[in-house]
Order: sequence, then C-alpha cells, then structure tokens
Amino acid sequence: MILINYTASIQLLSTLIDYRGSEPYFAPMTPFERRKNIILRNEELESSGMGCKGCSGTCCTYEANSMMVTPVEAVELVEYLKHNNLFNDELKARLTETVSKYRLDQGLGNGKRSFIRRTYTCPFFGHSELGCPIPREVKPYGCIAFNSHHVELKAGEHCYSEKEILEEREKNDLDEQKLNEELKKKYSLWWDKVPMPVALLDFFR
Ligand code: SF4
Ligand code: SF4
Repeated sequence: MILINYTASIQLLSTLIDYRGSEPYFAPMTPFERRKNIILRNEELESSGMGCKGCSGTCCTYEANSMMVTPVEAVELVEYLKHNNLFNDELKARLTETVSKYRLDQGLGNGKRSFIRRTYTCPFFGHSELGCPIPREVKPYGCIAFNSHHVELKAGEHCYSEKEILEEREKNDLDEQKLNEELKKKYSLWWDKVPMPVALLDFFR
C-alpha cells in the first residue's frame, strides 16, 4: 500500500506560495505525483516477486550507494522528517558522522556536477529497522528507481535502475527545474545536486 504524506505535500506547497507572495505562477506537484511512475514500477516489480525481501540491503550501504539529491528532493525529505520529529540532534550527529567518515563534502566542485562520486552507507539504513524507514513518496528518486529484477537472487546481482522510467519522470514534471531554482534562492543553497547527507545537513544551518 502506498502511504501518501499529504502533510508534507501541503507544507511544501504553502512554503512556496508564502515565498512568492500572493501570485504563485505555478502549482508544484505533490511529492507523490512527482514520483508516481517510479513508485508504480517499484510496486509492479515487488508484486511479481522481484522485491527486496530477503536482501540485506546492499544498495543502501557503502558497497553500492552514492545517492545524490536535488533541492526539491532534499526539501521534501526535510519536511517529512520535521513533520515526524525526526529532524533532530540525533539525525544531525548521524549525518555529520556519515559526511566525515566517507568524506562526502570533498570533491563536490561547484555543486553542479560531481566528478568524484563517493559511496557511503546511508544514515537512514538499518537504524530503526533493517531496510529503509523512509516512505517511498519522499525518498530520493534514485532510491525508488533502483530495483531488483530477479525473484531469487537478492544481493545486488540483478539490481539496476531503469533509465527510461527516470527520464519519463523528468518529462512529467516540467516545472521541476524552476522549483529547484526557487528553493535554492529561498534556502541559500549553493548546490544543484550533492550527496544526500551533505544536502540534509545544509538544512540545520
Ligand atoms: S533513503 Fe532508504 S533506500 Fe535510499 S539509500 Fe537511504 S536507506 Fe536506502
Ligand atoms: S535493490 Fe537489490 S541490492 Fe537493493 S535492497 Fe533491493 S534486492 Fe537488495
């Protein structure tokens, strides 16, 4: 079942409208709408027996994870964490430790493109439960689109992202680039895409 966090969607929407004053010039999609096609594909694979059950979560650890996020993805995740009282000192300490341990703040260049993609164990992985505690409608796009394509082998051997569905997601959200620019201004962000822990730490400033 898909859990839709309406509060996170509404909060993001109202934040943007406040920022622009009384005449918003476009209505942003909700976090779920933005991810709809990749969530549906994820569910389709899961219901065909190609879910992640039985895997220790290789793709969330330093063995394979190098997830980066845009301002839109970061804000949606931060709103969700705040709404659930998870944006706290404990998270800040975990993010700081991850950034330091995997040197994620090094080699970021101008924040537009990263020439070095460092891998890291995700700070959300396996803390409260084994696996990912973040709901799909606010997860980074790349996390939702990276799926198993095999019913039995579950250690990453048959796991990959389908480029076409990520491209289709981008095509569906024509305003996303504008929204990224608005959020960069609003939160004084210097980056377009950085490793997720670096992005989230920026919101503790
Ligand atoms: S957000 Fe969840 S799915 Fe993505 S890397 Fe972290 S633990 Fe894994
Ligand atoms: S996508 Fe693959 S490596 Fe990642 S948790 Fe699922 S089965 Fe494991």
